[in-house]
Amino acid sequence: MPPEGDASVRLLRLFTVLSVLAVVAILVLAGGGIYRVYSIEMTKVAEETAIYVGNSIFEQERATLLRRDGQGVAVVVRPDDFAGLDERMKKFLRTFNMYKIKAFSADKTIVYSTDEKIIGKVEGSNSKLDGTLSAGTVVSQLENKDTVRDLKGEDRFHVDVVETYLPIRVDNVIVGAFEVYTDISSTRDRVLTAIAYTLAVLAVVLVVVFGLLYAPMHKGMVRLRKAEGRLREIASMDALTGIFNRRHVLDRLMEERERMRRVRVEEVLTCMSLLMVDIDHFKRVNDTHGHLVGDDVLQTVSSRLKSSLRAYDVIGRYGGEEFLVVLPATNLVEGMRVAERLRASVRDQPVRCGDLELQVSVSIGVAVTLDADEQIPQLLSRADQGLYKAKEGGRNRVCSVQPVAAAAG
Ligand code: GH3
Ligand code: MG
Ligand code: MG
Repeated sequence: MPPEGDASVRLLRLFTVLSVLAVVAILVLAGGGIYRVYSIEMTKVAEETAIYVGNSIFEQERATLLRRDGQGVAVVVRPDDFAGLDERMKKFLRTFNMYKIKAFSADKTIVYSTDEKIIGKVEGSNSKLDGTLSAGTVVSQLENKDTVRDLKGEDRFHVDVVETYLPIRVDNVIVGAFEVYTDISSTRDRVLTAIAYTLAVLAVVLVVVFGLLYAPMHKGMVRLRKAEGRLREIASMDALTGIFNRRHVLDRLMEERERMRRVRVEEVLTCMSLLMVDIDHFKRVNDTHGHLVGDDVLQTVSSRLKSSLRAYDVIGRYGGEEFLVVLPATNLVEGMRVAERLRASVRDQPVRCGDLELQVSVSIGVAVTLDADEQIPQLLSRADQGLYKAKEGGRNRVCSVQPVAAAAG
């Protein structure tokens, strides 16, 4: 494929890759963003529930949870009160999505927990609890727990809980804190399903949008490539005769020489013939009948030459009324035969230009090379010498000039 074609294919490929990356990036950012907004909202709702639950419990269990002594008020649960408090707590918590609740005294001792085993322990380093006990702040955090023991004492796995610390205040003095675990797994599942639907719709929209962009781009590229192909064709053609121009036929000559070199590496003997064709006494045609008739003659001669060649032979207009023919893999005998056929194709029938019928002939110089290292100018020069010989010999004929060594042999 030509390099310009490659560039447009690469551009389309780049657009496709960037589109896919853009779609993925948009979906990831949108999904992440929406989930973050919902997480904050879910945490806030869970926190509000936790505050309500904590305050309600405290109001109902004030008498059980508080003990006044000479130093003030403290959060304590007397052993005798534990069973009743535990039963009431669990019954109350079950109506909400609560997993557990802990009550801390001001010195961070766990005075009550739905998990009985940890009662009496002192909480270690816990910045959230410290903040609640010292400044009275309500702190909530969304966490994914691998296992959580529910109120029935059964383990539940991979649950999302909001852990909330809230202060217990008596007469505006912080005397302890509650830690409440609120289960938001079912809400989270609903949110994730909604996000999945949203992203699916977004993905479809994005694919349609990029698809709509791709279609005209692809169409434009195809048109561009066609136009490039046409331009390249025009650039290699001779405008008057419609055959290749000088530059292109020389390029093809060079390509053929390179092919000979490659074949030689594979040790197959190959050759190439080059014909230089020149219309005889063409100046007379111009001088007698005018340039337009001359142009007609040029067109007819070039089309006769072209149609007498094989599909893989190359013909181009080398200059004014001169043509160059490259015959790949053609030896001297075959090259002379083709040259003779070309000569006859021009001479055998008169050229018609309106009412005029002109006898036109061509002279042809033939050069054959077996040597892939022979320089192109040398080869052209031998074909030119052959043409000179043909003109000298009386025109309307074919002459060849062999390389010096071959001729000697
Ligand atoms: P010879 O047999 O020795 O080749 O003689 P000749 O007259 O063909 O050669 P000469 O080189 O003297 O003249 C070639 C003429 O071709 C001269 C030039 O005006 C004419 N010519 C070159 N290009 C064109 C063209 O595109 N159209 C026309 N009508 N004439 C052209
Ligand atoms: Mg000439
Ligand atoms: Mg001539």
